Amino acid sequence: MEDIRVQVHTCFHCGNTGLLKYIGKTVWKNEVLDRDEEGNLFTVLPLEDKIWHIFECPVCNSPVIISEYIEYIQYSECEYRPAYPMRTTEYPTIAISADGVPEEIYSAFESAVKTRGIDHAICLLSLRRVLEMICKDKGETKGKLAEKVNALVDKKILPPMIGDACWIIREMGNAGAHADNINVYASDIEQVIAFVSAIIDYLYSLPHRVEKMKKRIEKREVD
Ligand SMILES: [Zn+2]
Repeated sequence: MEDIRVQVHTCFHCGNTGLLKYIGKTVWKNEVLDRDEEGNLFTVLPLEDKIWHIFECPVCNSPVIISEYIEYIQYSECEYRPAYPMRTTEYPTIAISADGVPEEIYSAFESAVKTRGIDHAICLLSLRRVLEMICKDKGETKGKLAEKVNALVDKKILPPMIGDACWIIREMGNAGAHADNINVYASDIEQVIAFVSAIIDYLYSLPHRVEKMKKRIEKREVD
């Protein structure tokens, strides 16, 4: 993989995409160790590494943490090589993975999250729009947002508890739209982002992950 320090990253506090200032890293290693004749530890076999890289966004001065995960697989009898590198934005998290999520819903959610540090009203409105898109994707196009969500609860596509979370997202979105005289707190925004990501996870990511793991286990049983 290319050197992470000179690559372009997105700051999900403010939406800035560009070079972020590199601050440093912490490293965790899982390895099989042994001691030589003098009693010093040495690595017999590397198993996996995780590195957390800390950056500072030059636009909003907030910290961004990106992790790199590497697994070592056996290449020849006595040689192990790194494989399956994975990069994850750990903080601020956008809370969902793109796997299994319809592209336009994922990108609308991602854009909404990017505005959380810039404009609370726009962020709430955009999150409400994501909810509208989810209803449409699940076949509900008629009536107000509340009616569409209720229809999804009636059809048991959404559990009733998530129907309540939708009520909050709708109300907060309306407050954003009408610039009501209510104070919107950053912690409110974080909660609404968490609710929308829970809905996306429940409807799209979770079934996708369950299906994938099921296939993996079935394959193991056959092997
Ligand atoms: Zn930023």
